Amino acid sequence: MSGPICLKCDRPLEKLDENYIEDRHCSDCLRWIKKGKGAVLIQNRSFYEFNAFMKGVFALYKFRGDVEAGRVFSHMFNKEIARSYHHVDRVIPIPLSEERLYERGFNQCSVWIEGFGYEQGDFHRIKHEEK
Ligand SMILES: [Zn+2]
Repeated sequence: MSGPICLKCDRPLEKLDENYIEDRHCSDCLRWIKKGKGAVLIQNRSFYEFNAFMKGVFALYKFRGDVEAGRVFSHMFNKEIARSYHHVDRVIPIPLSEERLYERGFNQCSVWIEGFGYEQGDFHRIKHEEK
């Protein structure tokens, strides 16, 4: 991605109305900061804009179970992790409930970092949420 981004969440600011931008932050992040929850998200890196094309790719990957569609992103993720952080103790994929893991057959975030030697946590989401 290129152009000005929110300093907290990496959202492209040029596509937001100026009423939703303040001090180089998007309104969502400002709302979190004003509620005193700004420390929850320390840093976010976005590699792609979630546009119609990416929405289709992710639907193929997450909901139709095309694991290879996800592996396309592996090298980019690992390159960015190495570039963004000097030292990585552990990469913790977003946990899925056991029900969702069974249904999908894989954790989409784990697939992205497989084979790159990162220690992964074995976490499960306690509460199952509907899609
Ligand atoms: Zn933001």
